[in-house]
Amino acid sequence: MPARPFIDSLDFARNGQQITGEIFVNQLSRLADVFESKQDLLKYTVTGRIGLYDIPQLDLALTGTGQIICQRCLQGMDYAIVVSNSICLRTQAQLDELDNSDVDEEYESVLADAHLDVWQLLEEEILLSLPIAPKHLIGECQTVNGSQPQQKESHPFAALAKLKR
Ligand SMILES: [Zn+2]
Repeated sequence: MPARPFIDSLDFARNGQQITGEIFVNQLSRLADVFESKQDLLKYTVTGRIGLYDIPQLDLALTGTGQIICQRCLQGMDYAIVVSNSICLRTQAQLDELDNSDVDEEYESVLADAHLDVWQLLEEEILLSLPIAPKHLIGECQTVNGSQPQQKESHPFAALAKLKR
């Protein structure tokens, strides 16, 4: 089983460090309700750097295919998970300041933790990347008589575009 890594986030960013690893879906407890199959393997890379305005950042990249639950037929459907995001590391004082300002921040921020739980951060980003109510394409749901939906080439993003209201 892959092990849960912790990083000293500011140090990690300042030194331009990088970690890569894998996670089984079932190792992230908050994904358990969303995913049908628990053995899907996700691959990630976290890279530290100093970004614009000298703000320490973490670049998160994660890919994998998961079986998420269709909200129409409640059966699993393959879904390509892609996370690609940069997170700014801030002190508590900076976070408070951001909370109290009207300026919409362009980037997400987290507390610069000396013992940052990398998986927790990734889990949050995975949840944000998923559709609110995932559904199969029209006609691909499990039918009442129990026959399997036709296997088709999956185009998750085309499907998403259609589902957007
Ligand atoms: Zn369905």
